[in-house]
Amino acid sequence: MAGNAVLKSGLAGHVLTLVLAHPPVNALGYVLRCQLADALEKAFADPTIRAIVIGGGDALFSAGADVAEFGSPSAFRTPNLTSLIAMLDAAPKPVIAALTGNAIGGGLELALACHYRVGTLKTTIAFPEVHLGLIPGAQGTQRLPRLVGVEAALNIMLSGQPVAIGQLSGGRFLDRIAEGDVLTAAQDFAVGLADKPGKPPRVRDLPLDEAKAEAFLGFARTMIAPQARHLEAPLRLVDALEAAVKKPFDKGAAEELAIFRGLIETPQSRALRHVFFAERMSGKIDGLPADTPKRTIEQVGIVGAGTMGAGIATAFLSAGFAVTLAEMSGEALARGVGSIRKALESGVKRGKITAEAFGATLARLAPVTDLAALSTADLIVEAVFEDMAVKKGLFEKLDALAKPGAILASNTSTLDLDAIAAITKRPGDVVGLHFFSPAHVMRLLEIVRGKATSDDVLATAMELAKRLRKVPVLARVCDGFIGNRMVNAYFEQALLLIEEGASPDQVDKAIEGWGMAMGPFRMSDMAGNDIGWAIRKRHYAEDPGCYQAIIADRLCAAGRFGQKSSAGWYRYPPGARKGENDPFVAALIAACRLERGITPRRIGAEEIVQRLVYALANEGARLLDEGIAQRASDIDVVYVQGYGFPPHRGGPMHLIEEAGIADVIRTMRDFARRNGPDAAFWAPAPLLERAAATGLSLAQLCKGDVA
Ligand code: NAD
Repeated sequence: MAGNAVLKSGLAGHVLTLVLAHPPVNALGYVLRCQLADALEKAFADPTIRAIVIGGGDALFSAGADVAEFGSPSAFRTPNLTSLIAMLDAAPKPVIAALTGNAIGGGLELALACHYRVGTLKTTIAFPEVHLGLIPGAQGTQRLPRLVGVEAALNIMLSGQPVAIGQLSGGRFLDRIAEGDVLTAAQDFAVGLADKPGKPPRVRDLPLDEAKAEAFLGFARTMIAPQARHLEAPLRLVDALEAAVKKPFDKGAAEELAIFRGLIETPQSRALRHVFFAERMSGKIDGLPADTPKRTIEQVGIVGAGTMGAGIATAFLSAGFAVTLAEMSGEALARGVGSIRKALESGVKRGKITAEAFGATLARLAPVTDLAALSTADLIVEAVFEDMAVKKGLFEKLDALAKPGAILASNTSTLDLDAIAAITKRPGDVVGLHFFSPAHVMRLLEIVRGKATSDDVLATAMELAKRLRKVPVLARVCDGFIGNRMVNAYFEQALLLIEEGASPDQVDKAIEGWGMAMGPFRMSDMAGNDIGWAIRKRHYAEDPGCYQAIIADRLCAAGRFGQKSSAGWYRYPPGARKGENDPFVAALIAACRLERGITPRRIGAEEIVQRLVYALANEGARLLDEGIAQRASDIDVVYVQGYGFPPHRGGPMHLIEEAGIADVIRTMRDFARRNGPDAAFWAPAPLLERAAATGLSLAQLCKGDVA
């Protein structure tokens, strides 16, 4: 085959084969589109060529649009996907898509515009646009239903998830099922077509007169509306499919394009695309070369089999690692192993692992009560009590027994990692791996870089996160790192709101109604109010002038630790699925207000949301100024992945940039001027002042950020 940059071509008899060769995902970038358009034009004009096969890579036929072009003029420059598709529609000879691998987004639209498709039943197709607040924009919504039916097409586009071709109804998607090599099967198929007279068939000409389609779409609208409460794209997908059903093809395609163009301009799609790019960026460490050597990690030791240790062990086991789990007593160990078993069993029920893999996964776990068993581990993750003396004692022992080159990681949420590292003779090997609870479910992993943590340890930790299918974010050492330090400011603001007049329920409902997965008081009741209490006590000792959260402290002093004690900010009667408002809490709050001389006032939902979100963003800006977080977009990743921040709002830092930082500062000053109990809280972070004064974005101000 003669090759060029991103498209290979080869002629055999009357069949021309074009193979997309644009690694890593065969993205349909401008250069590939040009080469494809050029090759097709020549082939259409060449009388010796009677059929054309378009193939792709083994894993991916094509992943669609080139994300590197997003937002740049190249994205829609002709030849664009729509003009390529128009060429295929006008083609005088058959073009066959050889689905050598999975077809995603624009890659699938290209395949749908070909006259025939050859592939295997295992090959998957997907339209993930909905995750970016979009719908397919190159006739995907008009063509797919013509092959698989309206219901299946809507489900595929709504979920955004890959679906195996074998699961599609109707059996019309493939024109030939390949038994062996897909490209060869497609070429054989093409030979059979070469002498077929007349214009090749087009998906666009297939009828779509499903009698039940309209009723189904009406039903879909009612079902989707409550689920997609904050999202625009899902309902617009239904509109596009309705156009496919009711209108002639070209009118339907025009409507799809209009919807797509409208959505791409929405703040919601901008936010979702920001999160998408932020997650790709967060795994990169500024200043660390991509070829930094990495250590080999196969055997993992975990110390502590409590809530976190068991979850972390489950995460490692599920990702294929061998895990030695150490505890102080057989009893605690048995409890931990029990939780791991339960978590894996629930993974089987939810289809995350197969019943066959379950036994092998659990067999990789070695529970021990003797730390000496960790001497061969490549990585040891500590998840013992959050107590500096306990952690230091343990790291001293680990230092003595771990093999040279082993990475020693701490899962501490708040303690000084540098002090822990300093107890060892190998501080360069010490790193923070801060998992979130439940550790086998939550995708966020804060990787904490100590003063001495060596580059190869950091590079290894980043790679490890990928193997664990986590989203890593780098943080420097401070109390609470990125997530918990911001949550402290957020919770402090929530407490100030109730001091001033709101109820916990009002605060929770306002922020949940705005899209946050869980309000601060419900979240605290779930995590355990005693955890925050312990942190506050430490803060009071370290800084007696800091805000004294008397309402929360008294709640804890009354033993109301949350769900685990059946009472916290809410009460949890036996069998109740949700917390209920409790007059005890209302009375406690009223008494504290009286004591502080506060006359309660009504606070609206909008103010509640602004105060909570601006509290997060202001603290985030301080973290950037202090160099704790590398980039504003990393902070957004932390909040979206770790704290239930609605992705369609992009994260707290993206949100204030969309709102305009100068305006956000003005609002903060208004909050301060009102002279409520939170007046001192609202000093804008210096970075925000600089952003407002210069008009520069946070990314521009923090060198090395997403441009
Ligand atoms: P936990 O109390 O549930 O578990 C701690 C376990 O460590 C206990 O089973 C205890 O027996 C064991 N242990 C204590 N000292 C030990 C030793 N020397 N050797 C072996 N085992 C020992 O606590 P947790 O919630 O799992 O928290 C563990 C760590 O993870 C803490 O540092 C905590 O701050 C951090 N963390 C917790 C969460 C969370 O949501 N719970 C989230 C992130 C990080």
